[in-house]
Amino acid sequence: MNICGEIFNKLLKALYPNKCMFCGDIIDEDNEMKTCRYCENELVYSENGNSVFYYSEIVKNCIHRFKYSNHPEYAPYIAKYMYIKALENGLNDCDIIVSVPMYRKKEKKRGFNQTALIAEELSKLTGIVHDRGILLRVRNTLPQSKTGADKKFENLKDAFKVENKERIRGKRVLLIDDIRTSGSTLKHCGDLLTLNGAEYVGYMTFAAARKNKDDKRAKNKGIDKERENV
Ligand SMILES: [Zn+2]
Repeated sequence: MNICGEIFNKLLKALYPNKCMFCGDIIDEDNEMKTCRYCENELVYSENGNSVFYYSEIVKNCIHRFKYSNHPEYAPYIAKYMYIKALENGLNDCDIIVSVPMYRKKEKKRGFNQTALIAEELSKLTGIVHDRGILLRVRNTLPQSKTGADKKFENLKDAFKVENKERIRGKRVLLIDDIRTSGSTLKHCGDLLTLNGAEYVGYMTFAAARKNKDDKRAKNKGIDKERENV
């Protein structure tokens, strides 16, 4: 690189330093997980093999920035965390990756579907194809977290459809979403994929709501907002 190029690069780094995706603090340029030391210690890993972290305040901030403050560059790092967890639990042993889709109009408004971006990066890491032509959201739905237990099924009914079913017939599918709240969306999509010929459906999410109710109240404040746009 010539001197001008070097100066330009230094200037760029000074203007746009690398920042932790959880808290926004400045971190080293070569930080491999885009995570500062403080957040590294604060993050609580989920005991569930299908999710990386519990949905805490810092995880909420990360997902919030990723989705609403236009930070699609977080996707490779979120995927990296999910890849490590998938390796630990043998979930990488799948034939095809499918991501939970957004309603088309919502995706158009946001400009990207965060779950599809994560799935795309996960596909690069695992070498497993991410097929966006399988699961489609054909109807807009209320966030499942805002729906009463008795209405959850009704809310999801006919919201998704499977196309090109021959591409999942007899295949092991890895279903991707960003957050698992009640788990009803993942279960519904998983059942639909199985019904349409998938041999097995495993799922993986970046964050998961805690099951304990008291803990849930304390840790999951604001989760409704996250689900609203999914
Ligand atoms: Zn941090």
